Amino acid sequence: MTITTNEAWQDLIGINADPPNMRDKCEQCKRPVVVCWCSALPQPPIATASQIVILQHPAEEKRSLRTALMLQLGLESGKCLVYKGKRFPNARNQAALQKLFDSSQTLLLYPSKDSVPLEQIDRSAGPYTLVLINGTWPQAKAIYASSSALHRLRQVKLISVGISDYIIRTQPTEGCLSTLETAAKCLAVLESQPELRERLVRPLHALCKYQLDNGAVEHQSKEFLLKNNQYPKSIGKRLGRLLNTVCGSANSSEEQQTIKQQC
Ligand SMILES: [Zn+2]
Repeated sequence: MTITTNEAWQDLIGINADPPNMRDKCEQCKRPVVVCWCSALPQPPIATASQIVILQHPAEEKRSLRTALMLQLGLESGKCLVYKGKRFPNARNQAALQKLFDSSQTLLLYPSKDSVPLEQIDRSAGPYTLVLINGTWPQAKAIYASSSALHRLRQVKLISVGISDYIIRTQPTEGCLSTLETAAKCLAVLESQPELRERLVRPLHALCKYQLDNGAVEHQSKEFLLKNNQYPKSIGKRLGRLLNTVCGSANSSEEQQTIKQQC
């Protein structure tokens, strides 16, 4: 009887009294510590002359992987401001936004027929404030339609469609990803510092990599199927480039072809 009790005690002693709490949140990004991306943030935060203003649809917050927060934390304080609403300006942000909308230094990223490529903007006349609309495409269109102040802003577009746009279309969390990626691309252009893009999107890539490694990406995504050798087609050039970006620095086509084993 004594022996049995001792054994039971030994078993109890063997149990970790304080197992890791998966729900522990990071103070900064508010994500569970196991998926915290803060270590991938640029350190120190990047100082830019340009400023980013995000007009965020309320539904975006619920869906969001907090990529707007990645941008806010990646940039010097005050260089990325987020305003929420379905129409802008609104009662909560009238004072701040009206001033911004009245400035000739404010640009709106919106793909209208009048928008000019961001690359063609005279950078010597900057710095600029770039306004982005954060939401799904229908939400962004609705915000634009109901915010006449936006119609008067100089409109710009990005002409280079890169890997990031592909990520946006294939990820289940589309739209959430676009804010950071788009802002990073725009800042690289406005600041004439191509490397800014890669530095700013690093937390997102860290998050994507974690999700891929853990199969947490929506199960039908091409990345997930490829990772598990369930995707029937051979890797196309664009998808190869996407995986190249998400998973590492493979450059040659041979390396891209073998990414599905490595990723
Ligand atoms: Zn964190």
